[in-house]
Amino acid sequence: MAIPVMRTSSWIKVRNSPIHGRGVFAAKRIPKGTRVIEYLGDRISHAEADQRYEDHNPNDNHTFLFIVDKKVVIDAGVGGNAARFINHSCDGNCESVIEDRRVFIETTRVVQKGEELGYDYEIGREKDDPPNVDEIFACRCGSPKCRGTMLWPAKDPRKKKAVAKKKATPVKSTKGKPTKGKATKGKPSKSKSGKSKSTKGKSRAGAGRSRR
Ligand SMILES: [Zn+2]
Repeated sequence: MAIPVMRTSSWIKVRNSPIHGRGVFAAKRIPKGTRVIEYLGDRISHAEADQRYEDHNPNDNHTFLFIVDKKVVIDAGVGGNAARFINHSCDGNCESVIEDRRVFIETTRVVQKGEELGYDYEIGREKDDPPNVDEIFACRCGSPKCRGTMLWPAKDPRKKKAVAKKKATPVKSTKGKPTKGKATKGKPSKSKSGKSKSTKGKSRAGAGRSRR
């Protein structure tokens, strides 16, 4: 009983977006919890994705890759559908849900006709990220909750640590308090995405967009 392929969708229209390039917009009012479209493309291994985009300009944030799990990446640059044009948003109206190792975009609230669809790409940080990675993946979603970057977590934890260390050294300082407050500020990692309807709780762990 495989889930039917959702290559097209009457819920949406692709047109130019004020956020970035082309975007996906509601063709009509979409109820909350609607499975709008499937994220389709060439299903390849991580190694193959690396190879395919070996010469990719590291300063180009354009990506059609979606990490399904440790083994599979969907490259919507090859055989992709309209789902690849859904832009990132820090506080979007959709989320990506992985089921049977396939990716679906679902609304998390009612979307009015003409509204642009968006979901959080939660692009992972990697050890070999260039120092300007947050500039490359700067977010301009315009949401009041915009964290300024498409990357997740919002801040590089390594940088945070470095700052904390520096602060810890001057023992004399009287305003030593703020350090702890800062640490708790970090968003509850991943837990938000754990709300997947999929029965396999594991499936969303590796979810997110890749860049390569
Ligand atoms: Zn944003």
